[in-house]
Amino acid sequence: MHTTTPATTAQQLQTVIAHWPDLLQQRTTRPHDAWPPSSLQTYLRTVEEYDPADRSAPVRLHIIDTIRTITVALVETADQIAAQVQRTPMSDAPASWPAADRDRRNALAHDDRTDPARWQYTGTRTAPAAARWLHARITGAPGPCTALTGPQHDRIAHVADHAAARLTHALGTSRRTIPTGHTCACGGELLLDGGDGQPPVIRCGWCSARTAAPTAA
Ligand SMILES: [Zn+2]
Repeated sequence: MHTTTPATTAQQLQTVIAHWPDLLQQRTTRPHDAWPPSSLQTYLRTVEEYDPADRSAPVRLHIIDTIRTITVALVETADQIAAQVQRTPMSDAPASWPAADRDRRNALAHDDRTDPARWQYTGTRTAPAAARWLHARITGAPGPCTALTGPQHDRIAHVADHAAARLTHALGTSRRTIPTGHTCACGGELLLDGGDGQPPVIRCGWCSARTAAPTAA
């Protein structure tokens, strides 16, 4: 179930910002960190049920597709929201103004145009830059913008939710469950939970038995 509270959306945008370098790195990283690691795979009798091959080249294409999809979604959302809430930059002074007034006005206009809190419609526009700008809007940070309306907030929440979910999935940091091929004393199937960076756990799918998985070498 998805929630759309400001805190949750802000956290999802923070996830994109924090893990974006990891995603970029995954484009070229060899998949030697496939999960489960070989030390666990040797323990697994039915390792073919988890195919490490699907974390090699096709996964890198998947990573590139994820990068593109998240970037398009966040940048387009920032474009659309900025068009609605961001004030047009102050214009330069007319040439007819006295020089001193003109200089003062042009300095203000320059500062306004280049305000870091302003979403830029041109130049290099990245997913983390869009996420930071949307985060500032969601949290009501200062900037040349009006407050978000309910529908604007909901739109950002929706996009942030999907972006964080896609990124997390692509990085393989979501906890997954695979069968071990072993049987519990109760006759239930033993399952391996892991792959999210937390300690893997073997648990029975039937009774409540749990045990730490063999430590990865
Ligand atoms: Zn059991």
